[in-house]
Amino acid sequence: MVEDSWAASHDPLRLRAETLDAVVREWYEHLHGPVQPLSGQLNRRLAEYALDRTTAETDGALAGEPASAALADSFSSRFSLFDDAGVGTADALVAEFEGSALDDRIATATVDAYRHYRDLHADYVDEWVCTRGEMFDVVATAEQSLSTFSSELDVVILSGYHEFRPVERRLIERLVDELPMIALLPLHQDDRSGVDAVAEDALEVYEALDFETVELEPVDESGRAFGPITESLYRPDPDTVPAPDTLRWRELPTPEREIRFVARELRTELANGRDPDDLAVVVPGTEAYSGYVEDTFDTFDIPHVTTAASQLNRTFTGSVVHDLLNLAEPDPRAEDLTSLLANPLVNVIDTDQANAVTAAARRRDTVSVSPLLDDVDDQTAALTEELLATLDTLRIGDVEDATETLRRLLDERFDLEAATEDYASGAEQAVEQRAYDLVDEVLSSFEWLAAVNSDLSPLALFTRAFDGVPIRVPQRAAGGHVEVMGLLDARMRSFEKVFLVGLTSEHFPVTPERPAFFEEMTDAHPRFDTGDERLRGRYLFATLLANVDELTITTPETGDDESAVVRSPVLDELQRVTGIDPEDGVDDRVGSREDLQRHVAATADRRAAVSRAGDRGDLSPEQTKRTDRGLHCADNRGTAGLSEHDGVLEPETVAEVYPPSEREPYSASRIERYVECGFKFYAEKVLGIEDPDDVEVVPTPLETGSYVHDVLERFFADLQDETKDGVDLTDFNRDDLATHLREIAVEELRDADFEYDGLFYERWKAELFAGLGDGVSAPYEAGSKPHDAPEQGLFATFLDSELSRDGAGRPHLFEAPFGEGLPDSDAGPFTVERPDGSTVSIRGYIDRVDVSRNSEQPTLTLYDYKTGRAPYMTKTTGGTKFQLPIYLLAAANVVDGDLFEQGSLSATYYQVRPPNDLKVPRGVESKFDSEVELRRFLNKVVPEWLGQIDEAIGNGRFHTTLLSARGANCRYCDYRRACDVRHHRKREFVDEVHEDDAAYVPLRVRDDEDIEAVMSDD
Ligand code: SF4
Repeated sequence: MVEDSWAASHDPLRLRAETLDAVVREWYEHLHGPVQPLSGQLNRRLAEYALDRTTAETDGALAGEPASAALADSFSSRFSLFDDAGVGTADALVAEFEGSALDDRIATATVDAYRHYRDLHADYVDEWVCTRGEMFDVVATAEQSLSTFSSELDVVILSGYHEFRPVERRLIERLVDELPMIALLPLHQDDRSGVDAVAEDALEVYEALDFETVELEPVDESGRAFGPITESLYRPDPDTVPAPDTLRWRELPTPEREIRFVARELRTELANGRDPDDLAVVVPGTEAYSGYVEDTFDTFDIPHVTTAASQLNRTFTGSVVHDLLNLAEPDPRAEDLTSLLANPLVNVIDTDQANAVTAAARRRDTVSVSPLLDDVDDQTAALTEELLATLDTLRIGDVEDATETLRRLLDERFDLEAATEDYASGAEQAVEQRAYDLVDEVLSSFEWLAAVNSDLSPLALFTRAFDGVPIRVPQRAAGGHVEVMGLLDARMRSFEKVFLVGLTSEHFPVTPERPAFFEEMTDAHPRFDTGDERLRGRYLFATLLANVDELTITTPETGDDESAVVRSPVLDELQRVTGIDPEDGVDDRVGSREDLQRHVAATADRRAAVSRAGDRGDLSPEQTKRTDRGLHCADNRGTAGLSEHDGVLEPETVAEVYPPSEREPYSASRIERYVECGFKFYAEKVLGIEDPDDVEVVPTPLETGSYVHDVLERFFADLQDETKDGVDLTDFNRDDLATHLREIAVEELRDADFEYDGLFYERWKAELFAGLGDGVSAPYEAGSKPHDAPEQGLFATFLDSELSRDGAGRPHLFEAPFGEGLPDSDAGPFTVERPDGSTVSIRGYIDRVDVSRNSEQPTLTLYDYKTGRAPYMTKTTGGTKFQLPIYLLAAANVVDGDLFEQGSLSATYYQVRPPNDLKVPRGVESKFDSEVELRRFLNKVVPEWLGQIDEAIGNGRFHTTLLSARGANCRYCDYRRACDVRHHRKREFVDEVHEDDAAYVPLRVRDDEDIEAVMSDD
């Protein structure tokens, strides 16, 4: 701020802006040559090792468990405070504590740890590494005059300090002796009370040093507007100060809406020509809000830079280290491997391979890495094994080797430094580069202290060291970007307009949680403390207010999880002084394309609204066109009639994209699929759009169905003696049959083209195999819950049910093929003929045909196995299910001689649903009064319906379902967002389609007809 104001009226080169630390370091180097400041990470390592020594002792307040990262953190910042207070030795600390009210145990343990800390420092840290306190002290007590080091200095301006640590204070005293000095200290009130309470310390220092006080009045309108407010905050009985228009307080329902509100405001400001550099967003609770800010500001296209503090683990660089450390654990977890491979900075295998690993991990449902390695390609498996072997060093080697291993991995294998340089740009890149520097700093600190003995493994040391490392991106010229920052960063900056977000008691002011250990020390020795956050918060708030032209404060009504939110006490105070009330309600202005779409959705004439948005340039020409087409489509889909958007094609188009040669012969399931929903059929069969591959942990219903079919087919087929007509299970012993069934099932499972493992797969197998012979050779691991097996699984239940069936029918044919073009059959064409002479060609397999010749008239019973629920027979007579009638018609081609003509016909489903839900409902014949009626249904009605379906497909009728949403399984359909399948609308739609002669309308959905009426047509 000083630099900016100077540059506006003076020669910029005549002012040098530096931090006090940088100046001190420069002067120190004049005195003693090059120096390396003690890095934060090295300081933290020293504290960790010092604490390890203290905790290893047999008594004392800290004896016991090794120190956690949080405790090490507290001690390392406490040691820095000792250093800043000029307490550089354990003996000096003893002297400080002498006669204090501090509990002896705490004093002794602290002195003990500090002694280890100083010893470690003396023994292992090179002498040219200096602490901050040491450097300040040397400069403050130097014999030479400081002005000789910087002879160009005319005057020193000190800005940004409202509190001083003891070493800083001594340096200021020295500076004042030698150089002309001006100190800037924003004060809001005259008597050091209220919001200025925290600045009392600095004021005392300046007064003691005889600074001449010059009071500066606000130079601009805004200063005058906010001045009376800051002057009255935290004072008893203030005069009420009306809030100026430039101070707003907006309350929004949730934190996310708050950020959206700010984003809209920013867009308006930017659209009105405000320079982004003049705007800032100050977020005291940066951690909680950072996700919303990034997402929302990106959506609203707001150029922004975030300079607020975060955590190393939240960066991609930090998570590489985090994942590697986790993978170094014994039996590492699969999720750490997938996270490492998916990291954008890691490029050891290509994206497809990385995705394959993730998919395999989900499919396998495995927690640990090892089973996963069988499922991934050789390169990835080899790489992973090598990586895990390398990481062993972290667990079993010494710290030196472990640090070198980690470095080699990061630098040579992952080339992380180059990756961070190539990653993104601007602020995102700066974060990753800073993170890389931090990782480097941590590893260097271990290299410095490699010779220190430790009982902990390198892995435990690294894990503690990398836990909770804060990261702060250097505040670089945000040029052309709106800056998002924490409150502390905003203290000496000025902006035209600032949004202060999330002013709740949770986020502001924050009282740091300290171990109780230090609470007492703070009470007994205030100079070893960082000051009162409450007072500091008040002061920062007032200073922010004084430094901006306009301030908009936002608060949420509830937290993310609808939890109640308490406003910041600072806001209560502001309200007490100004009487300001929050403006509330929903903010429904348009600030992003998403907002625009919501608004358009609410207008009566949406196409006109889109066209207007296109004319104004809010939507690009492509977007306007796409949205207009979308609306036109939605209009058509929303009305009952058939249009080009309802899956209606011209016959010529169908002839091209789905000619008869491609669609015939039909299979029963394909026909049923069409009747279920023409549109879904069109997408799948005509356009060839496949369902996205879901990640499964057990075989899909399709895989299960096909496996069970194969087992049941072979069970009978292998028993069938060619000389006999059918299989009579009573010829066999139950145990032999069970063994036979088990052997087949195991063999088929081995040959199945699916592969799974994990708990859920064990359960799946148990549901099929339980109770089928000895447990020893059972192909599943019978264990405890949740995968304990039922007593009788599907196969055993099937066997018992077959043995107990008293009907005389014997299984005769299994998976009998009909129609041409099947892979394992050379059967000729099979067609059904409509009454008008046209034909429909069909093919398929009949699961099972049982024949009984015991009575006068032989009986032919067809079964269709269902591993799901068997459909109701009324669906067959209602024209939506065709399997049974088609198989009955085809039976004429598959059974010998005159059996079909003379026999009595029956066809039904055989429900074989794991684990043991078996059911054989009454067959389709039960829906007819006589054999003659059944045959009439088969020979007349079914061919007519099949013909209509073939015709409807040929005529391009691919409209959405005419059945209920449940009947068509809309719930599981990927197109459900584009369909209106609500009941009242369905009726209109069916009526409309009924009018269309080319469409097939199942009898089931026609109100005016039933099967009897259809049959009597004849
Ligand atoms: S949601 Fe229902 S009607 Fe729409 S395409 Fe899917 S199955 Fe057909």
